[in-house]
Amino acid sequence: MFYHYLVPELGPDTVFTADAAKPVAELREALALGHTARPVLVGPVTYLLLAKPAPGVDPGFEPLTLLERLLPVYAEVLAALRAAGAEWAQLDEPALVQDHGGAVLEAAAHAYRELGSLAARPKILVAAYFDRLGEALPVLAEAPIEGLGLDFTGSAAANLDDLARVGGLPGKRLVAGVVDGRNVWIADLERSLSTLATLLGLAGRVDVAASCSLLHVPLDTALEHGVDPQVGRWLAFARQKVAEIVTLARGLAEGTGAIAGQLAANRADLASRAASALTHDPAVRARAAAVTTRDTRRPQPYGERAAAQRARLDLPPLPTTTIGSFPQTAELRAARADLRAGRIDRVTYDERIAAEIRSILVFQERAGIDVLVHGEPERNDMVQYFAERLNGYLATQHGWVQSYGTRYVRPPILAGDVSRPEPMTLRWTTYAQSQTERPVKGMLTGPVTMLAWSFVRDDQPQAETARQVALALRDEVADLEAAGAAVIQVDEPALRETLPLRAADRAAYLAWAGEAFRLATSGVRADTQIHTHMCYAEFGEILAAIDDLDADVISLEAARSHMQAARELAEAGYPREVGPGVYDIHSPRVPGVAEMASLLRKALDGIPAGRLWVNPDCGLKTRGWLETRVSLDNLVAAAREVRAEA
Ligand code: GLN
Ligand code: ZN
Repeated sequence: MFYHYLVPELGPDTVFTADAAKPVAELREALALGHTARPVLVGPVTYLLLAKPAPGVDPGFEPLTLLERLLPVYAEVLAALRAAGAEWAQLDEPALVQDHGGAVLEAAAHAYRELGSLAARPKILVAAYFDRLGEALPVLAEAPIEGLGLDFTGSAAANLDDLARVGGLPGKRLVAGVVDGRNVWIADLERSLSTLATLLGLAGRVDVAASCSLLHVPLDTALEHGVDPQVGRWLAFARQKVAEIVTLARGLAEGTGAIAGQLAANRADLASRAASALTHDPAVRARAAAVTTRDTRRPQPYGERAAAQRARLDLPPLPTTTIGSFPQTAELRAARADLRAGRIDRVTYDERIAAEIRSILVFQERAGIDVLVHGEPERNDMVQYFAERLNGYLATQHGWVQSYGTRYVRPPILAGDVSRPEPMTLRWTTYAQSQTERPVKGMLTGPVTMLAWSFVRDDQPQAETARQVALALRDEVADLEAAGAAVIQVDEPALRETLPLRAADRAAYLAWAGEAFRLATSGVRADTQIHTHMCYAEFGEILAAIDDLDADVISLEAARSHMQAARELAEAGYPREVGPGVYDIHSPRVPGVAEMASLLRKALDGIPAGRLWVNPDCGLKTRGWLETRVSLDNLVAAAREVRAEA
């Protein structure tokens, strides 16, 4: 969920070669230390399914067609691992937990028939996690391999019934992922034991395991001295999850009597969590329970709102704006570090933030931008900033998880009922508005993103948690409106990334996600304009859900895809205003006026001038001031050029 990977780019001419040196060296190192290591490789089917056509290759090219060429390479690596002393090798096939047609299932069957029939190989364990294996389960169950690793947590718990239905895995090893490898909560040991007891009858051998690799959770709760010890007992990071696995394995082998102490402690911790005031705030619960559909719909039809907003804002056609953040400079980060370390006081820090906001506003006014932002200089991160200001969230000191390569993130933990003790953004937004005549956008992070980029509680449905966050945001929106904000943006860049892997689960997710967004935003007057922002260009199956958010204006990433998102929305008859990004903020490259003007003309193909906004793809926090200045000057010039033609 926080993890990113490099997408292989393949084409019909791609040639694979085996280089077993690294896994072999790592295996030898482990063996030399006396460990029985099981090397793990990404499986061939998943590798190809997660790949995409290389640039210049026919976009219809299907990497899976390369399977025949890839398998000999796997054979070579497996042989090398066997020669180096590997008894088992694990091939991860998480891509198989998605909906696939016959071709993919046939490919999986073929791949494991081939690899299974190799003479020189370790025993093969295929692991598939994050959801239920579904129609791929019988395929792998019948393959000539020695073991299967399955996830039995969350929506993957359906694997249990499915396994029984296919007659289990007689003679095979089952690595049973009963400890959730993606959340930070202690397991319910008794429930896990009962799952394991059922599984014992379904496989030749059952091993207790985490549902997936533990790289998705932080290392050790023992390092978290800032967390209330009571709450700390509900948390399990990687070290604690390993201990749970060991306990469960012992209970399975020796009977529950052997782990009676651990079971009693686990029961007590689960009970303390269930009874805690943190997880059960009666006021929050009563308010969430009283929400009706009327609270989640703007009272006025869009046409009426659009007219009221036009009258209030009086913007030119093709109005210009930005997505929210301006460069997070080294000075800003240093000031934050100085404040934390006590080298400067709060007043000094706040003065720096105020000065930064003033200069960001002056720049935007000079550049000729129509709807301004305060620039988010006070925010370390768009989720963490709000998490620090909401009841129910915990912060960790050392809860780092790998995002990509050497990049790590430290997600907040949404542990309890969520409420807002006081306004979170009002001060800087009103300060910014006091410095300029032009409208300044209020800037909030939406409920879905507040969940997606945190560890969320597993003791209630996500829909419930999202509703609580939405209510807190609804109050913030109301405060901003009362303070005079005419435009309020609620970012939902994570809406698509948390889409369930299985299509059958998507409608329910999109329903609660959309409801949460509307609950946060629908309490405003007709003449208050709600914006949202998303960071991608292909909407596909979430198009209808995006429409259902009922935001007055949506900004999205579009520069790199030549306005793909604008095209998609236009073709679908999207009725409201759209700001397809004309400035790719992912690199320091400065887009020219002609280039942005041509993107705008392209967007005008589908979106009428009265409904088109001009903005960058995303926030500017990772950019430097040098390129930001020139790029935004060019953006305004492009907007003026195209306005003159309209
Ligand atoms: N308002 C945020 C910003 O401008 C949005 C960031 C995002 O979409 N990821 O930085
Ligand atoms: Zn974005």
